[in-house]
Amino acid sequence: MYDVIIVGGGPCGLAAGIEAAKAGLSYLILEKGSLTESIRRYPRMMRFFSTAENIEIGGIPFPISGVKANRNEALQYYRKVAGYFHLDFKLFTEVDRVEPTAGGEDTAFTVTTTTGDAFQARKVIMATGYFDKPRRLGIPGEDLPHVTHYYDEPFRYSYTNVVIVGASNSAVEAALELYRADAHVTIVHRADDFRKTVKYWLVPDVKNRVKEGKIHTQFNACVTRIEPGKVMTVNLQTGEETELPADFVLVLTGYIPDADLLRRCGIELNDETQVPVFDRETFETNLPGLYVCGTVMAGIYTEKVFIENGRDHAKAIIDHITGKPIRKVAELIERI
Ligand SMILES: Cc1cc2nc3c(=O)[nH]c(=O)nc-3n(C[C@H](O)[C@H](O)[C@H](O)COP(=O)(O)OP(=O)(O)OC[C@H]3O[C@@H](n4cnc5c(N)ncnc54)[C@H](O)[C@@H]3O)c2cc1C
Repeated sequence: MYDVIIVGGGPCGLAAGIEAAKAGLSYLILEKGSLTESIRRYPRMMRFFSTAENIEIGGIPFPISGVKANRNEALQYYRKVAGYFHLDFKLFTEVDRVEPTAGGEDTAFTVTTTTGDAFQARKVIMATGYFDKPRRLGIPGEDLPHVTHYYDEPFRYSYTNVVIVGASNSAVEAALELYRADAHVTIVHRADDFRKTVKYWLVPDVKNRVKEGKIHTQFNACVTRIEPGKVMTVNLQTGEETELPADFVLVLTGYIPDADLLRRCGIELNDETQVPVFDRETFETNLPGLYVCGTVMAGIYTEKVFIENGRDHAKAIIDHITGKPIRKVAELIERI
């Protein structure tokens, strides 16, 4: 019987492990992939929008030569921090469900993995993020082999026609990298411009490439069907349909926490926003003893919770578990 089981070994789950260890609790982190699996699966050349100090955990400095870390630096950093704190984790262990095994004062949980292993804990912290579930378009052809919801690196796409759906950071970064790797890129986006949240240093770069005709765009348009070698789009203002050549289609329309997993664990969600029911100070859900931590709590508002404001959730959670005065970490969470 562990005091705490933490589901998810991303930055926020690791921060929870550090806080649990500091409080002298027995704990185990269960991670379905490698350590910080989501970051490992980020685009290889990705640079964080946060400064390095804003994604530090456990009070361990994150020195880099510039200001903002890239994916590789972050992977090195979190691995080293996990080693420094001798964190207890079990990798490549996917949790299928969490069930209360007793009620009242003695509440405890059974955490069952997809391979049927079971772990017992007095408290459980869900820190499963949102990167496993893409926001799908729900159109015919979305599951064809030349379509992906994850972009990794540009060279696969050189000298091919690529249609990118979306106009957020992921889409813009991919478009710029692909253009520079000699891919022919068309961005299709339902609004009339790139998203306002695009990293400020990318905006002039992408807009100038569009102006020069090096990256093509279809704004106010959406993809209605994907077929081998092409996509069909429709202009949302004129209704005009267009066929675009597409050797590859990158659907980069964001990700969303896995609502089914949370429901399987007994956590209630708002039907519209998919935000779980949880206390804004303690992060305890409708099930006493079961907590949400990090970006998993964001529902559809994934742009509002990130490492910067998610890494401290565990402080409040562990305070609540140990009965200490709760450190206030939640001001940004009021907004979701
Ligand atoms: C491309 C990109 C760039 C970003 N840049 C920034 C940035 O600059 N600054 C910032 O603050 N945030 C940024 N974010 C957001 C932030 O990085 C992520 O949201 C961050 O990784 C969140 O940490 P987390 O611990 O909440 O979730 P994650 O890092 O996603 O960790 C969740 C972990 O849970 C595991 N998991 C999921 N389901 C299960 C299961 N059933 N059983 C066991 N394990 C499970 C996953 O494998 C994963 O390792 C970015 C996100 C993306 C996609």
